[in-house]
Amino acid sequence: MTHPAPDVVIVGGGVIGCAIAHALAGAGARVTVLERAGIASESSGAAAGILAPRLHATAEAMFALALESHKQFGPLVESLRAETGLDPEYIRSSVFDLAHDEKDEERIRDRITWLRETGHDVRWLDREEVLEIEPALEPGIRGAYFDTDAYHIHPIRFTNALAQAAGRRGVRFHTGAEAIGLERSGSHATAVRMPTGTLPAGHVVLAAGAWMRSCGEWIDTPVPVYPARGQILTISAVPPPIRSIIYAGDAYLFPRVDGSIVIGATVEHVGYDKSVTARGLSWLLGSIPSICPALAEAPFERAWAGLRPETPDALPIVGPARGWANVTIAAGHFRNGIMLAPITAALISRLILEGVADPRLAPLSPDRFASWEPNSDQQ
Ligand SMILES: Cc1cc2nc3c(=O)[nH]c(=O)nc-3n(C[C@H](O)[C@H](O)[C@H](O)COP(=O)(O)OP(=O)(O)OC[C@H]3O[C@@H](n4cnc5c(N)ncnc54)[C@H](O)[C@@H]3O)c2cc1C
Repeated sequence: MTHPAPDVVIVGGGVIGCAIAHALAGAGARVTVLERAGIASESSGAAAGILAPRLHATAEAMFALALESHKQFGPLVESLRAETGLDPEYIRSSVFDLAHDEKDEERIRDRITWLRETGHDVRWLDREEVLEIEPALEPGIRGAYFDTDAYHIHPIRFTNALAQAAGRRGVRFHTGAEAIGLERSGSHATAVRMPTGTLPAGHVVLAAGAWMRSCGEWIDTPVPVYPARGQILTISAVPPPIRSIIYAGDAYLFPRVDGSIVIGATVEHVGYDKSVTARGLSWLLGSIPSICPALAEAPFERAWAGLRPETPDALPIVGPARGWANVTIAAGHFRNGIMLAPITAALISRLILEGVADPRLAPLSPDRFASWEPNSDQQ
């Protein structure tokens, strides 16, 4: 006997909620997204959009998922373009991680060795080789990690394209619609509560980004996601003196197709405060001369901040909610939510519609935090 697909209600219209809506609707589910502000109005709209899994996915549990997600981007972007006519600015690039001193070099060479041993074609480049490819970089570097399999994407365009394509597949979006709780019958959620009434649900997906702790209260289980503010800015440079994504310690920069250079990003634990601060700006702007002196005179464009959904072990929290038969959690993607959106959506869609729990989700299970207590950084 085949069961009808459940009516799924997704709380949160960031990249994770929209990607899940798009995947579920593609597999035949009827889906409604509740977003209390606008699509991509929070972290997903603030992100840089760098997709460089071999540099970023440090935890083993995330590495395989990030590589798989990376593979899914090309076909996904193609189908989004075809379905919506929108261009998410998915651009192939290269990524460098610059070593300025011996300690940097040691850290970078260790990562390269590990990656090469596991079959990845990344390389150490000496100073002259780096400057041959990117001659405008500050020449005092020792060398760099170099990977030609990196991309960047425009996170707002990408999230909007996911939402529009989902809409064409029948997903209903309610923006300005805040969820405030769940109605339940035993272990089943029966509806999502809003200030204006309730919305019946056969299944609920909680994808509320840095606000997941409130959702945890609704389902009476800890969902330890807390905000990590990221300040980020753009300057204008046409033509851009660099072509690649350049990391230097905690700072990075890369050119977008519109002639702006993105410079990011701080990681700060200041609660739900999205201010752009003098300290944040001065750190970001101060990083420019030691990476690419040619950009020091570039006109400033704008700066903004977003709240990344961080977790105690920096791994996402994805899987069935403990004690509930039809509530799924998809949150806590911290610095990698854009990169991990396609694979998260694919795995959640299979979990809900086919009941298949992919073994790669095991380390991301919400159950690992069943008895979690916050420390002062995690408020
Ligand atoms: C400066 C910066 C740079 C970044 N760079 C990158 C990068 O280069 N690559 C990368 O992969 N990732 C990057 N990230 C991280 C990425 O932005 C996040 O991991 C990702 O956007 C998380 O998506 P999300 O949908 O879980 O959260 P969000 O985008 O925050 O979406 C959650 C949504 O839920 C809504 N919501 C919350 N509570 C409720 C409620 N009760 N009812 C209804 N709606 C609700 C919110 O309004 C919000 O729109 C960056 C983040 C920042 C801030």
